[in-house]
Amino acid sequence: MTIHVLTYHSHNVDGTAYAGNDHVAFAEDLEVIRRAGAEVVPLDELAARIAARDRSAARCVGLSFDDGPVFDVHDFVHPRFGPQRGFLNIMRDFRARHGGRALPRLHATSFVIASPQARACMQAELPEYPGEWLSDAWWVEAMDSGLMGIGNHSWDHVHHAVPETAIGNPSTRSKAPKGRSARPRISSGRGPGRRPRYSHSPSAT
Ligand SMILES: [Zn+2]
Repeated sequence: MTIHVLTYHSHNVDGTAYAGNDHVAFAEDLEVIRRAGAEVVPLDELAARIAARDRSAARCVGLSFDDGPVFDVHDFVHPRFGPQRGFLNIMRDFRARHGGRALPRLHATSFVIASPQARACMQAELPEYPGEWLSDAWWVEAMDSGLMGIGNHSWDHVHHAVPETAIGNPSTRSKAPKGRSARPRISSGRGPGRRPRYSHSPSAT
């Protein structure tokens, strides 16, 4: 049984096209899911269906957001690429456009980093982003929206901006697939002078 769980980074804004902008991609993907006749369900429900070997899980899609930037909920203006719609508002836009019968269980889980110190280190990596963009100030608002849950990414994050982590270095795990590092890596963008953005190898969380 193949299960689909899609993951987005709201701090991944490197242009205005689908491939380099997770806000554009998320909005488009919701339409694709709707047209495909698939069902979005909250991740905990998807996990329960999988545990119960419920074959209906195969036509379900889970939605997750990684690392917990405030852009998961709030619109912001990217210094180079202009206004970006927050993920929560993208879901509200979808609701406004199609009504409650399209993807009636629409819900996404944002996996946030618990350690304020780790978040501060990662935040300093992208100083051009506005304010405390990895703060915890929006977590309750997200849960109260009814469209989002907050999940535990981990205590901190194996990331070059975080000097010490409690969760260990996954590159030393024997489970790491051959030829592919499990260590979260930084993409340098597309040329010198670009600010790096976070990205993850498929095996990292
Ligand atoms: Zn992450």
